[in-house]
Amino acid sequence: MATQVATLSDSLRGPVLTPADPGYASVRAEFNAMHDGEPALVASCSGTADVADAVNFARDQGLPVAVRGGGHSVAGLSSIDGGMLIDLASMSGVQVDAERRLAHVQGGALWGDVDRETQAFGLVVPGGVVSDTGVAGLTLGGGYGWVRRKYGLSCDHVVEAQVVTADGRVLTASADSNPDLYWAIRGGGGNFGIVTSFTFDLQPLGPIVGFAAVMYPLEEVADVLRGWRSYVEQAPNEVTSVVVTITFPANPEMPEAVHDRPVAIVGGVYVGDAEEGLAEMQPLRELGTVLFDMSGPTPYAGVQTGFDPLFPRNQLRSYWKSQYLDELSDGAIDTIAAGAQERPAPMILVNTFHMGGAINDVDPEATAFAERSAPYMVSIDGMWSDSADDADNIAWVRATWGDVSKFGTGGVYLNFTGLADEAPTAGVDSAFGRNLRRLEEVKAAYDPDNFFRVNNNIKPA
Ligand SMILES: Cc1cc2nc3c(=O)[nH]c(=O)nc-3n(C[C@H](O)[C@H](O)[C@H](O)COP(=O)(O)OP(=O)(O)OC[C@H]3O[C@@H](n4cnc5c(N)ncnc54)[C@H](O)[C@@H]3O)c2cc1C
Repeated sequence: MATQVATLSDSLRGPVLTPADPGYASVRAEFNAMHDGEPALVASCSGTADVADAVNFARDQGLPVAVRGGGHSVAGLSSIDGGMLIDLASMSGVQVDAERRLAHVQGGALWGDVDRETQAFGLVVPGGVVSDTGVAGLTLGGGYGWVRRKYGLSCDHVVEAQVVTADGRVLTASADSNPDLYWAIRGGGGNFGIVTSFTFDLQPLGPIVGFAAVMYPLEEVADVLRGWRSYVEQAPNEVTSVVVTITFPANPEMPEAVHDRPVAIVGGVYVGDAEEGLAEMQPLRELGTVLFDMSGPTPYAGVQTGFDPLFPRNQLRSYWKSQYLDELSDGAIDTIAAGAQERPAPMILVNTFHMGGAINDVDPEATAFAERSAPYMVSIDGMWSDSADDADNIAWVRATWGDVSKFGTGGVYLNFTGLADEAPTAGVDSAFGRNLRRLEEVKAAYDPDNFFRVNNNIKPA
């Protein structure tokens, strides 16, 4: 093995690391501390050619492979014990072509990298809400952020991707080249190959946006949700909003009223003039007893980084579950509110997302991402620090998800699907529905041996 590793090292421009190498410890860590893998080999790729060589090497050696873009997989699907980690952290370049309104983004970039470059031009690729999350995993699995109702999913803005397939070929996926692959990577995850770069179309935004963010006492969450529902039911697509329940630690930058205090945060971002947006979203600031109101004209890049400190890498053990809802009935609200008030740990979040708008303008069969009709999603994001709490907290997330699911469509968001003892295929049926069969066929065409299987796995037809 040592000789083969030396050969791989010679061919790659980036380092090849084993646990004995000093650089091994500084490989970009995964988010989920519950899935702290120890790969036998890390290929830290510097570009597409490195990725192709690493894939060929792993395939020829029969090594199982995990691929890490940003490392934020909730399910721990960029970690592996033994085998090879193909790490794209060094491939984080972003280039904006403002005239053509395109951004070229390498496969290991984080959303912070993209926001930094695109916001310099008052443009945006719709991304996630934490700047430390990877572009690749989020986009390949769909991608919901603060502008989703106006601009849709992240995957809806991919116009082209460069993909290294299991046989080591480098393919272009676009409407004109390998259209079946292009269809599949917009929602079907990392099943079909390693995306080494994306080309996204860009939309106008900011750099200052209207941002509403108000903390209410958690005891009022049911009423807050009812008021929020009345507002969002008639809100324009320019407004994207969410209700998050959380308990903040004592932080001197925050008023004492919210120190260690369970709260319901109502957040909203408006695409358009910031002051107009704040006027439009004023009702979100009047839903109950205001403990802390952070609303105001805010740099979009600041909104995107504002919640980062809550999500340090490799510290929180994570198990999340989600469910789409066709309506937010009173019964659903009471169930969500009961769950939110019984959260067993400060960083177990119960979130209610408003969806719809541009997400639903896309035909469910136009891309692999099948959920194009539900106006709401509830996610239960279990996060805690002590491994001794794993069993209880996972059981709590499952039970609460079961209660909420009674009001749901049965559909889940795979990017929010934690894995404890479930197989990596968990949730795949309910996420893809009628698109699953076609995905299995595309998988068979591009990865017949299921070489890329450390993911929300789609089996080859
Ligand atoms: C704190 C936090 C906040 C989040 N916020 C949001 C949010 O606002 N909106 C949202 O939609 N989701 C959000 N997510 C979920 C997120 O979309 C997924 O966790 C996503 O998988 C992360 O992508 P990544 O590249 O960082 O992950 P990784 O852990 O690197 O990868 C995740 C999966 O994608 C595959 N993959 C990664 N890179 C590539 C590549 N270049 N080519 C092929 N396959 C690849 C991996 O093999 C793995 O299966 C959040 C997650 C966390 C932990």
